[in-house]
Amino acid sequence: MQEYATKQADNSISEAQARRKRIDRYKACIVWLFLAATIIPSLVSIILLIQVHSLEKQVLAYAESGDGDMNTLISSGEALMSNPNVDMEALTGEDMNYWIDPEGLEPSLITGTNHNAKRVYLTFDDGPSIYTGQILDILEANDVKATFFVIARENESYWPYYTRILEEGHTLGMHSYTHNYNQVYASLDNFEADVEQLSQFLYERTGEYPTIYRFPGGSSNTVCDVPMTECIAYLNEQHIAYYDWNALNGDAVTEELSPEKLVENVMNSVRQNDTSIVLMHDMQSRHNTVESLQMLIDTLKEEGYEILPIDEKAPLIQHVPYDTGFEEAAD
Ligand SMILES: [Zn+2]
Repeated sequence: MQEYATKQADNSISEAQARRKRIDRYKACIVWLFLAATIIPSLVSIILLIQVHSLEKQVLAYAESGDGDMNTLISSGEALMSNPNVDMEALTGEDMNYWIDPEGLEPSLITGTNHNAKRVYLTFDDGPSIYTGQILDILEANDVKATFFVIARENESYWPYYTRILEEGHTLGMHSYTHNYNQVYASLDNFEADVEQLSQFLYERTGEYPTIYRFPGGSSNTVCDVPMTECIAYLNEQHIAYYDWNALNGDAVTEELSPEKLVENVMNSVRQNDTSIVLMHDMQSRHNTVESLQMLIDTLKEEGYEILPIDEKAPLIQHVPYDTGFEEAAD
């Protein structure tokens, strides 16, 4: 009898111990879950904050370098959307916003273009550079014509590229003499002098005056001290048309994007437009843009796009709303 009682007592002791162990396990579980629920998100937040901080620093450094059209990248998307001159008509190709007054121009009679195909205009800013030759070689090998918005290189070794661009059927456009925002945009006089200087420089190199322009930083840049409409009015007086873009590969933001990513960026915008002007850079620090070019051309061709150089039939894709006044200028 006493043995039985002892056994029962042992049992209840071991049961009590087992229960306590279970409770301890539950407690440990709850503590761990609590730690996981609080510490992991905190750690992730800290890591993200550090990343955001370093990206902000990169963006600022880039914007301050004044060399990459960074300011425009930030604002161009919004600017394009809010510009009444660049309504969807201009981008869908249904009723193109022509550089020349479209009266008398019969789009169906324009030769050499397939109007069922979506159109893509590849543009390269900031050249010539050490890569211009390679870019031209790739374009030639693929029988593709593009547009180069160039600056003035005083180093004579770059001069043959200005003529080669034209000789090989591409369009040569202006992108300021110096690309130094502080100089070009300090006053309207500076802007006018810069355009004139580059125009003359290119005439001396090629025997032709260029008729198209891309603003350093785009027309929606936030670095120009002069009202942009005054600069645009000056270009209109000179019969120079300016072009922004509605697609970009992102190479202005960082040189570190892979060729695949550059192509993906372009295609993401291009697939949403019927007509795209694509912003890319011909710069010493942008080797991946050269690396991506063949892949970009292949992808565009595979998906049925027509690749064209900017000419008077290209739609005016512009970020700043402005009445171009070309009808007046034509008189
Ligand atoms: Zn530029």
